[in-house]
Amino acid sequence: MKGSSHLAIGGAAGLGVALYLHTDPLTTASLIGIGSVAGLAPDLDVNGKLSNRITISKKWLILFFAAAGLLLIGYSYFTLSGFTQPAGFVIGLCLMLLPRLFIKQRTMLFVTGAALAYAAWYTDIFWLLLLSIFIIVSSFLAHRSLTHSIIGTACFAAIAWHFEQSVQLEGSFLAGTLAYASHLVADMKIWPVNKKGVKWFQPLFNKEF
Ligand SMILES: [Zn+2]
Repeated sequence: MKGSSHLAIGGAAGLGVALYLHTDPLTTASLIGIGSVAGLAPDLDVNGKLSNRITISKKWLILFFAAAGLLLIGYSYFTLSGFTQPAGFVIGLCLMLLPRLFIKQRTMLFVTGAALAYAAWYTDIFWLLLLSIFIIVSSFLAHRSLTHSIIGTACFAAIAWHFEQSVQLEGSFLAGTLAYASHLVADMKIWPVNKKGVKWFQPLFNKEF
């Protein structure tokens, strides 16, 4: 199923939770937002909509590495001597040239996850740390593998639970978990639009549903 459909279904799940809990307008809007993001989250394992959105732009990162490389070359020229000076030049040049060739969407997703992990560690926010681990692991997974299973859903539910404890936004655990699960249901083979199904019980059983 397409990313836009997942986004809409996830948002609807968030709205459903809001109506069920009779939340105020601001909380309702937040729950719709959480549902939309959670509805896309399982597809972090592809170059899908969400991974494009949360990933730092490739251009920006290449520029960042190039600037760091240039600084290192300048630093080596002015302050280093002996063997370390040419080593500094080489590393600086690599930083300027290599990211252009090697930075791919998956790498960018990994870098985004790592940056979030650092931010989480720095700010001591536990749910953000869990989310960053989720993103880093997803960047290594094949499409429709573990993120599209009961295990993936349970991991995301844990993140949503810690999020609700930390932010105190009523219904965010329920909205996030339901929206995530809605993605997997929408990806199932029972719908004519899907050629492939969901392996709910992987890695234990690989039966597709
Ligand atoms: Zn999917």
